[in-house]
Amino acid sequence: MKKFIISAVVMIILMTANALAANYVGNANSRKFHYADCSMVNKMNPANKVFMNTRDEAINAGYVPCKRCKP
Ligand SMILES: [Zn+2]
Repeated sequence: MKKFIISAVVMIILMTANALAANYVGNANSRKFHYADCSMVNKMNPANKVFMNTRDEAINAGYVPCKRCKP
C-alpha cells in the first residue's frame, strides 16, 4: 500500500513537471495547438488540454496551429 502511494505521488510530480515544461498546448476537442502562453490556453477547458514539448509532436498527432499565436 505504501509503495502504491509513493508511485502515485511520483507520477503526479512527473505529470506536473511535464505540464510546466511543455512548450505547446493542444486542445483535444478543437484539434488546434497553441504556444503555452497563448491567451486561448487560459480559456481552454483543462480537461481538453494536451501538453506537448515539440511542434512536430503536435503536427504528428494531427493538431492544427492556432491562427492567433501561430505556433
Ligand atoms: Zn493560440
